[in-house]
Amino acid sequence: MAISSIIIVGGGTAGWMTAAALSKLVGKRGLSVTLIESEQIGTVGVGEATIPPFINFNQLIGVEESDMLAAAKGSFKLGIQFSNWGQQGDSYFHPFGTYGYEIDGVSFHAIWQRMQAAGDKRPLAYFSPETMAAQFGRFAKTEGETRGDLPPINYAYHLDAGLYAAFLRKLAEGRGVLRREGKVADVSLHGENGHVRSVTLTDGSVIAGDLFVDCSGFRGLLIEQALETGYEDWSHWLPCDRAVAIPSAGTGTVAPYTRATARSAGWQWEVPLQHRNGNGHVYCSAHMQDDEALRILTDNIQGAALADPNFLRFTTGRRKKFWNRNVVALGLSAGFMEPLESTSIHLINTGISKLIALLSVDDITPAQADAFNRLTGKEYARIRDFLILHYCATKRDDSAFWTYCRTMSIPDSLSEKIELFRLNGQIFREEDELFAATSWVAVMMGQGIFPRGYSPMADALEDTNLPNEYNEIDKSIRHLIASMPEHRAFIDRFLEKR
Ligand SMILES: Cc1cc2nc3c(=O)[nH]c(=O)nc-3n(C[C@H](O)[C@H](O)[C@H](O)COP(=O)(O)OP(=O)(O)OC[C@H]3O[C@@H](n4cnc5c(N)ncnc54)[C@H](O)[C@@H]3O)c2cc1C
Repeated sequence: MAISSIIIVGGGTAGWMTAAALSKLVGKRGLSVTLIESEQIGTVGVGEATIPPFINFNQLIGVEESDMLAAAKGSFKLGIQFSNWGQQGDSYFHPFGTYGYEIDGVSFHAIWQRMQAAGDKRPLAYFSPETMAAQFGRFAKTEGETRGDLPPINYAYHLDAGLYAAFLRKLAEGRGVLRREGKVADVSLHGENGHVRSVTLTDGSVIAGDLFVDCSGFRGLLIEQALETGYEDWSHWLPCDRAVAIPSAGTGTVAPYTRATARSAGWQWEVPLQHRNGNGHVYCSAHMQDDEALRILTDNIQGAALADPNFLRFTTGRRKKFWNRNVVALGLSAGFMEPLESTSIHLINTGISKLIALLSVDDITPAQADAFNRLTGKEYARIRDFLILHYCATKRDDSAFWTYCRTMSIPDSLSEKIELFRLNGQIFREEDELFAATSWVAVMMGQGIFPRGYSPMADALEDTNLPNEYNEIDKSIRHLIASMPEHRAFIDRFLEKR
């Protein structure tokens, strides 16, 4: 069956990211792309922190970074500061980028362990430019600059999700994507193969298509309500199932990082934008009532609240199939693992890449769905393990919630990762899993899992040059940070240059 019309149901971040990416195909080989959204239903209204691969997405769709940041009132993000996770009063930073750099194929954290064993007292964080810049509230883009062997500063963005979707809408419509305002009331399936044939809006209009992208949010209008795909529930490992969000007035400075502060039955986020802060409290309804969650949030917000609280409910997990028949689910309709490491928009991004790579205008075959489902399933599982680590690697025993998390059973894949790290600091990256060694090392050590030994390869490095090179890395980073402007000043200058 030839594919000539693609219908996207939903106009949140997922819908408009998909539309913007697919807009390049409009008119090519007779393809049309239509997006249906309902202003009456609205969007989830949260989802403002991203991770570095998101930069590539914007480049891929041909967006100028400064235009996008100006439109979405965005800021730069160097990582996440975690407070009170390992135990109350603790704080650590999960940076983008790497600690130092590999020397002769040996991971930097193994070299750091060797230097510690030899009596050097400098913390690992000193060797992460992103961590140090964040600590001093500074930011600069450094690609193209020479600073010894240090790689460029890694960063992502904080964005106003509504403004970003509006920006993408303009771009997608400008390239020929058709937008239909309306609420889908009914979905009709082909009798023979069970594919979605068309959707009917409340005004009676029928919109038929060949391939449907379900971006309808938690409700999964096509993937679940119409096709009954099923959901794998991960709340045993990721038990938070509620959130309350409130935007607040900015307080002048704009921190170049997200804050994630653990509370007694969940955690609170703070996402600094140019014009305001995004705040929210993610919590577990088995251990906390909505009114208490709201009180904790309002007690801990800087700046005046700018809107009424937005309460959200979710079940962590994933759809049993992400691509089912002629429906591909992207965004919250595909699954949700909670926002702790800002991975949802990333999964939309990688879902779109896979969809584009697998798309054929000649047919839809089970092989496409199988490949999409297998690859996406692996991505979800690896991210899931990384998120669980934040909850299980804790000494907190001050609430029933933390006692549950500390003692819950965890997936074997995660147990193995922890075991190997404890032995001699090894991190094995499974296939092309999202989080690399720096991330695992930052969170493991940040939450109190320390290796007993270190890779013997670190001892194989030459004794004479190593301390010198080690000191040079530290010095280069200090020099770099001293030359960086304050984050807000960088944003102002960056946007002025447009
Ligand atoms: C508490 C919380 C915090 C989060 N924080 C982050 C974060 O920091 N970083 C991150 O990457 N992700 C985050 N996420 C996830 C992020 O919000 C989503 O991945 C992203 O917003 C995409 O949502 P969506 O477009 O899938 O769904 P939605 O925003 O819900 O959009 C659904 C769309 O479908 C339309 N629709 C639904 N039903 C119908 C119908 N019957 N007819 C017509 N249209 C319909 C709606 O009108 C809407 O346009 C967070 C999520 C939550 C819950």
